[in-house]
Amino acid sequence: MESDRRLDRQAALRRRLEVLALDALLISHGPNVRYLTGFTGSAGLLLLTPDRTLLITDFRYTEQAPEETRGAADVATEGSNLWDRLRRVLETGPRRRLGFERDHLTVRDAERLSRLEVAEPVPTSELVESERVIKDAGEVEAIRAAAALAHAALAELLPTVRAGETEREVAARLELALRRRGSEWHPFQTIVAAGPRSALPHARATARPIGRGEWLLIDFGAELDGYCADITRTVIVGGKADGRQREIYRIVAEAQRAAIAGLRPGMSGRDADALARDVIEAAGYGEAFGHSLGHGLGLEIHEAPRLARTAREPIPAGAVVTVEPGIYLQGWGGVRIEDDVYLAADGARGLTDIRTELLELH
Ligand code: ZN
Ligand code: ZN
Repeated sequence: MESDRRLDRQAALRRRLEVLALDALLISHGPNVRYLTGFTGSAGLLLLTPDRTLLITDFRYTEQAPEETRGAADVATEGSNLWDRLRRVLETGPRRRLGFERDHLTVRDAERLSRLEVAEPVPTSELVESERVIKDAGEVEAIRAAAALAHAALAELLPTVRAGETEREVAARLELALRRRGSEWHPFQTIVAAGPRSALPHARATARPIGRGEWLLIDFGAELDGYCADITRTVIVGGKADGRQREIYRIVAEAQRAAIAGLRPGMSGRDADALARDVIEAAGYGEAFGHSLGHGLGLEIHEAPRLARTAREPIPAGAVVTVEPGIYLQGWGGVRIEDDVYLAADGARGLTDIRTELLELH
């Protein structure tokens, strides 16, 4: 099953090569290599030609690479430099127009590429990424399973959180619960931010103790079969929310509900973002929602498409995106609620457990 998906993806890419008049495509971005071949290693150059898929990797993956790519790529293991091997492979044929991933090559590797002589390097942008936007059933299930795992870990954590313990202690217990339940890794650094620090959208967990009645914002992920889930919950610790906390939370929850209910395929990223932003602006907090509404989710925690004021491209059916409005008030705190949805022809379907009531932990 797995091998069929990979070969279908390669076939789709080969059709793109033809349109772009490329003789070959060099893929160096790890998640793209994984998407096309199943290879999960950190060093690999994938060469896709009309009749061959060749993965060049190094000694560390001698055993792993053929195992993971079986049926989807030939593997060449190189003892010294992957780029030398690439040159030797290309030397065997005529000089070719070789597409490369301009978004992912270091300057140093671009220099190596330009010195190849056996190929004419042609920059390409987001070729594989644009294929990855539309998820197949297996990918959607992997994200749903990662989300279920993340919820289970959170459900285990929340009843144990106490005022007086530090953000870092909470992060450690959550990460342990995620790993114990089978998360392959944390797709990003777990955010646990209490009190006024919850106004920092990308706060790091610190040694600050959580106070009674304070916000606790937790933004975390799980990874299964390489696919990520991304969830944010903002709760009150050790007491009841006050009137202002309740009011801000209500606005963010309403913004998220409006966005999830209004999302449709074909809508631009900008219009999708506006579904939530309009609610927050109408409540007078437009300035306090400084980031975009959401992002695509898959083999990477941030991938196409973007739900943002600057995104004019339409969001296709089959995309998986986060919906994460927030309000951040410096010195007071912030609220963000983040869920993951699959965009079906008739609208968004939750992959996470979308529940927006305010939790008050004791
Ligand atoms: Zn997140
Ligand atoms: Zn996110």
